[in-house]
Amino acid sequence: MAFDYDLFVIGGGSGGVRAARITAADGHKVALAEEFRMGGTCVIRGCVPKKLMVFASGYARSMAEAKQYGWDVRVGKFSYADFQSKLKKELERLEGIYTKNAEGAGVEIFHQRAVVKGPHEVELADGSVKSAKHILVATGGTPFVPDTFEGHELAITSNDVFDIKKQPKSILIVGGGYIACEFAGIFNGLGIETIQYYRGAQILRGFDDESRGMISEAMIARGVSLHVGRDVERLEKRDDQIFVKATDGHECVVDHVLYATGRKPNTKGLGLEDAGVKLGRWGKVEVDEYSQTNIPSIYAVGDVTDRVNLTPVAIREAVAFHETVFKGNPTKPDHTLIPTAVFTQPEYGTIGMTEEQARDDRPIQVYTAAFRPMQNAFIGNDERVLFKLIVCAESRKVLGAHIIAPGAGEMIQVLGVAIKMGATKEDFDATMAVHPTMAEEIVLMKEPVRKA
Ligand code: NDP
Repeated sequence: MAFDYDLFVIGGGSGGVRAARITAADGHKVALAEEFRMGGTCVIRGCVPKKLMVFASGYARSMAEAKQYGWDVRVGKFSYADFQSKLKKELERLEGIYTKNAEGAGVEIFHQRAVVKGPHEVELADGSVKSAKHILVATGGTPFVPDTFEGHELAITSNDVFDIKKQPKSILIVGGGYIACEFAGIFNGLGIETIQYYRGAQILRGFDDESRGMISEAMIARGVSLHVGRDVERLEKRDDQIFVKATDGHECVVDHVLYATGRKPNTKGLGLEDAGVKLGRWGKVEVDEYSQTNIPSIYAVGDVTDRVNLTPVAIREAVAFHETVFKGNPTKPDHTLIPTAVFTQPEYGTIGMTEEQARDDRPIQVYTAAFRPMQNAFIGNDERVLFKLIVCAESRKVLGAHIIAPGAGEMIQVLGVAIKMGATKEDFDATMAVHPTMAEEIVLMKEPVRKA
């Protein structure tokens, strides 16, 4: 049977574009449909603009510190408008690169919505139907706001946050995960009154407990008004602002309420169920280890499958899909030992097991170094950094590493190679320190602080 395309990709984000590009570059006929903007969440309303905002928000603190180092600087005023207009241009530039690279490889791009019509058919918003030997669903996720409280429609999400036109004076952030904690640091760093509500006992659930405690203490010390065990009961519009009534009676009035309460797979109205594709919890596409759905010609990668929702993981899943389907080399994406960074302020880099996970699993030894780095000590800044290794007491392998420090994301990327290779604590000990750095402590920790 002749098809219009060898591959039709739905979704122009990190996973979709990578699969389309490398498949087309191999000489296959590939089309991609994207209803919003090329680049997807990561480039347009996620990792990239967020990181640029993290940079922007760090300068006030750097200027204040520079002054203490003897520089004659005044902490100037941040122009939200200037930054926003630069950000807009940068995102347009990146979007252009994504489009150019895909088209340059031979991908035909449809800038419109596509829905699945059958195992080999996709219908575009203009009513045309395209056939393809394989369909790849890479539609990502979408922010979720609970509708269980009055005024929920007043909340904004990470989809809207980069479009705030005027610098707010105050913001309430709800949630305690990656996005909530990262934006709390960003807005606080920009000098905006930042209140954060988290319903549980400690932010960043699922991460290492000691690290969570240290990050939340530092966030509070830096000025975030963080309240745990508190949730929103009601939101109400008051002129240009929003009145907030919390479950414990707390009240405040803020310019914006940002809900960062998780993301759900983006499968609504995509035709998957009608086409017989099995969906799981919250509508995620159920796939096997090769990213194949129960309909053999339909595959899915990235956040829409709700496996590990990170950009580099979606890209690796896309590459594995390409190897499996177009190279005849069945390849499973490797979801083990994924290094990751949370761009809180201070920054957190982590790989592998938390202390809690590891000690439930086997005998372990925990090595930590928590101290004021020389750059902080010199100016009387009390903020500490943390270097922590979780070591298997039997094999001596390093099972997990946790770093809270400036540049922790960069450090965990490099450290991740050693840990992925199976480095033991003795391999760390045998490595010479780089002096004077903060990171040298990772090879200088002699005695475990805890055994479990
Ligand atoms: P997370 O799942 O990380 O966090 C969601 C937060 O919202 C949790 O604190 C959760 O609480 C809380 N929550 C959930 N439902 C409710 C509710 N009904 N009422 C109140 N609070 C609620 O999601 P995010 O939105 O922060 O991020 C989504 C994903 O995006 C992440 O999982 C991550 O994979 C990815 N991401 C990665 C980044 C990076 O690599 N640096 C940056 C940003 C996002 P509880 O803990 O109690 O469940």
